[in-house]
Amino acid sequence: CGIVAYIGHREAYPVVLKGLKRLEYRGYDSAGVAIINDGLRVYKKKDKVAALEEYASSYDMRSPIAIGHTRWATHGEPCDRNAHPHVSSDGKLSMVHNGIIENYVQLKQELVNQGHVFQSDTDTEVLLHFIEEIKKQNQCSLEEALRIALKRVVGAYVIVLIDEDNPDTLIAARKGSPLVIGVGKGEHFLASDASPIVEYTKEVVYVNDYEIAIIKADELILKNISNERQTPYIQKLDIEL
Ligand code: GLU
Repeated sequence: CGIVAYIGHREAYPVVLKGLKRLEYRGYDSAGVAIINDGLRVYKKKDKVAALEEYASSYDMRSPIAIGHTRWATHGEPCDRNAHPHVSSDGKLSMVHNGIIENYVQLKQELVNQGHVFQSDTDTEVLLHFIEEIKKQNQCSLEEALRIALKRVVGAYVIVLIDEDNPDTLIAARKGSPLVIGVGKGEHFLASDASPIVEYTKEVVYVNDYEIAIIKADELILKNISNERQTPYIQKLDIEL
């Protein structure tokens, strides 16, 4: 139901945690984060963001990159296992998703036939494994695999992906659900609405449907589904907290 992500010079987890709290008003049943600290690490819990915070407090959460999620379950009951972020079979990719993948049953069957084992009952995990499978079969980049996958996906989504092997990059895409990128100095923020972003920067880019964003601390690349570069249109927020 809500997504927050960060890459840059700050500690990413506290930024994302605070952002998730700002999105609490939207309602949700579980929350989670993924960071890259000596490998990909995922922490997720049913119930409130406070439950996640409590759980994560006994771990080393240092990381320059993080993705976070508050879930409003549509496929699979609310529980720790079905909470986002989800993880690929090889344990390297992690993804958060808002929305619904309508053709996930068919995609899941194909993936099961190819040997994929699923940890959750969500449509989200199916999309992540589908992307992973395309990346493996085509030996292509994550960005390219995502582009191919999205051409076959029916439904609405905002997704954000991280890859343990490329810890300096966030990849995001949207169709039918909102996604805002906050542009800072040597840092970028992503969120479902501007409320987690305003305290850090007033410069935002609203991602359009069928666009893919490749985001590093000091670089923002937007492309359409045909792999053509789009010029990010930076708007100034005039809201105050
Ligand atoms: N369909 C996904 C799930 O049930 C995402 C739900 C959401 O938007 O929070 O896990």
